[in-house]
Amino acid sequence: MCKKLLAELKETIDNKTASNLELDKLERITERLELLETDCTTCEQHLTALQTYIRTLINKQGQFEKQTIKQHKQKLQKITTHLQKQHQLVPDGYYLTMGLAFGTSLGVVFGAALNNIAIGISLGISIGVAIGISLDGDAKKKGNVI
Ligand SMILES: [Zn+2]
Repeated sequence: MCKKLLAELKETIDNKTASNLELDKLERITERLELLETDCTTCEQHLTALQTYIRTLINKQGQFEKQTIKQHKQKLQKITTHLQKQHQLVPDGYYLTMGLAFGTSLGVVFGAALNNIAIGISLGISIGVAIGISLDGDAKKKGNVI
């Protein structure tokens, strides 16, 4: 159902708008919700709301205001948060972002110890990124990525 609507929506917008609306993410989210809706009423509600919402997007025929894009992102964020909290799913690249942040702060500690902040930070970042990529790959393998 949603897939058909999404395909319809894609036809009304250009690539730039599609990436602004994070259509790929929206597609992955709706697929998730369709799998989860039988067991989770919140997912079911999100899915029903999304169907109505995608129809209103189609009706805009590619005419999106900044405000609409902003609200759109908030909407996706809200559903993503639910999927993360209730269904232990993570957004794509989640661990990489975490690893980067963690690696940077670790790097500052390294840097202080080595008396060379630049080397410390690049060391920390490479470790953090390596861990992040491996955790992302692991989550993907387990089918836990939104
Ligand atoms: Zn749910």
